[in-house]
Amino acid sequence: MTTSTARILLASGNPKKVRELDALLAPLGICLARPEDVGGLPEVIEDQPDFKGNAAKKAISAAQATQSWALADDSGLEVDFLGGAPGVHSARYAGTHGDDEANNRKLLESLEGVPDSQRGARFVCALALARPDGSLALEIQGTCRGTILKEPRGNQDFGYDPLFEFAEPGHEATGKSFAELVPAQKSHVSHRGRALAQLTGRLKDILASDA
Ligand code: IMP
Repeated sequence: MTTSTARILLASGNPKKVRELDALLAPLGICLARPEDVGGLPEVIEDQPDFKGNAAKKAISAAQATQSWALADDSGLEVDFLGGAPGVHSARYAGTHGDDEANNRKLLESLEGVPDSQRGARFVCALALARPDGSLALEIQGTCRGTILKEPRGNQDFGYDPLFEFAEPGHEATGKSFAELVPAQKSHVSHRGRALAQLTGRLKDILASDA
């Protein structure tokens, strides 16, 4: 595979992720295919204990089903006081998959009365790239640190963004909730942005070495 013909299947049905990745990979001469471009993908049960395991499972399954390069991700929120919960259950913390409002409510309830000093958390994004034969070519993890607010702030809301105040010293975004940042500001410091930056830095070499 050469970078001039590179095509990677993104094992995600989320159009936001496809667009975000497309913009980053197009300048590298890499074209992204979506599951619907290949007639759909087999369902994968995300039952691994960590993000890395789920991302790998999805990438390997997609590569094996299509005999093509496949990229998958898994992400979520780990709260220190809750021993890392909601973790791999982030999307369905309150029961229903993707019910952000209920998930945020449950998170606030779980931290009721917990002081600011003990509300530390991190977002994690794991990426896995599998070769057409189903072997893993790359595993990456991006993280960012923050504090869980006592009430939501901002309106760029996706998932736990309104409750996550970015808290890494020395960044312009420090002290802002992720829902107060426009997408480009968030990507600059977010777990996903950091994982993607590592990916784009390494992708060319991986594809070249498999040419
Ligand atoms: P997935 O990786 O798209 O399945 O996301 C898992 C869940 O983690 C989402 O439904 C959100 O609840 C949460 N999550 C992951 N990344 C973010 C983020 O950047 N902001 C807010 N919530 C996120």
